[in-house]
Amino acid sequence: MRYSKLLGKTSKTAPHDAESVNARLLVQGGFVDQLMAGVYTYLPLGLRVIDRVKEIVREEMNRLGAQEILMPALQPREPWETTGRWTDPGPEVMFQFKGRGDKDLTLGWTHEEIVTPTVKRFVRSYKDLPFSVYQIQDKFRNEPRAKSGLLRGREFSMKDLYSFHLDEADLDRFYELAKEAYRRVYDRCGLHALIAEASGGAFTKYSHEFQVLTESGEDIIYYCEKCEYAQNREISEYKEGDRCPKCGGIMREGKAIEVGNIFKLMTRFSDPFELNYTDADGVSKPVLMGCYGLGPSRVMGTVIEVHHDDKGIIWPKAIAPYLVHLVSLTAKDEAVTVRVRAVADKLVDELEAAGVSVLYDDREDARAGEKFADADLIGCPLRLVVSEKTLAADSVEWKERVSAEAKMVPMVQAVGEVGEFAKK
Ligand code: ATP
Ligand code: MG
Repeated sequence: MRYSKLLGKTSKTAPHDAESVNARLLVQGGFVDQLMAGVYTYLPLGLRVIDRVKEIVREEMNRLGAQEILMPALQPREPWETTGRWTDPGPEVMFQFKGRGDKDLTLGWTHEEIVTPTVKRFVRSYKDLPFSVYQIQDKFRNEPRAKSGLLRGREFSMKDLYSFHLDEADLDRFYELAKEAYRRVYDRCGLHALIAEASGGAFTKYSHEFQVLTESGEDIIYYCEKCEYAQNREISEYKEGDRCPKCGGIMREGKAIEVGNIFKLMTRFSDPFELNYTDADGVSKPVLMGCYGLGPSRVMGTVIEVHHDDKGIIWPKAIAPYLVHLVSLTAKDEAVTVRVRAVADKLVDELEAAGVSVLYDDREDARAGEKFADADLIGCPLRLVVSEKTLAADSVEWKERVSAEAKMVPMVQAVGEVGEFAKK
């Protein structure tokens, strides 16, 4: 991708209302454009990142054996009346409005009310269970505080998974597998998430939240520094300095961002929708359910909160918009500039032919310092520079975003070494 053609450009000034690091860097880096509080357009750079997060999520959900579906965001009032959630939490969380014929409508903030009746049409006997479905879709919530960039959107991306089981043992089995799948998602995105016990709703003592420790977190958790056992403060029996009940280590207090939350719903939704199955003896029983939420957009924002420095974002390779940020510099002598550009063009072609994604800063009117500052702000893992100096040495300058040092790599080895770097 040529930077000169890219929609969305970096800006030197921070947006006046950006209260969080992720919002500031995403707007300044040209990843997103804010429409209103908590609602963003993903520009090409930002879309590449969130798509990579979603792809990782999708791979791990498929590996779990879950099937992908897509449910509507636009929904009627009736199923929400069935569960009582049209009024509680109702407008506290839901956007509610009128359609034609005075019909009450909402935009999905979660999808139990849609998935349960859908599944009911296909599940009859114990032979149809267990199974699980998920979707990746925008959710809508009337959040009171939407000031943290992608961390708290009013329209935001969620992957929601729902599982359906014969009995509690099978729900427990799947729940543990889902935990492992969640861990893999965060690991692959460059986040270390602790699993914290949190309030579980009406049917179970605990749900589990995946919490990433960082100063910008809105949640407070208590966690053991040794075995990482953790609880959300809202329910917690612990305080700073207590002994860990699991391993005897010391419990610490920390701020954290909730990047996922999984629940055993038991029969909370199968009861009102009468989602039952017939067992081997012909007896009708309620299906047990689990639900599992993970926010790709919040994950993207959290990655920035955790991985940045004073110059900009430091993307982990797995979700970087491009692996390589290639900068070509103009020389005083126009003839040299033409040669530099020809060499850079060729390198881009070769890298792309080798399957490497490249953001190519081909601007002719930007100075070296400006281009380097932009490369740091955008945060691709590897910066390559082609200039009069590198041309003379038949090399390319190589600098990784995580390191302060640059080195020269012979041009003939460049594509091979980038290939190796991509694999590391
Ligand atoms: P919070 O307590 O932070 O408001 P929640 O507990 O209401 O979140 P869940 O209903 O558990 O959120 O949603 C599942 C996941 O969806 C969350 O773990 C988070 O990753 C993501 N998520 C929830 N609300 C938002 C939001 N407003 N903006 C971005 N992501 C969100
Ligand atoms: Mg939650």
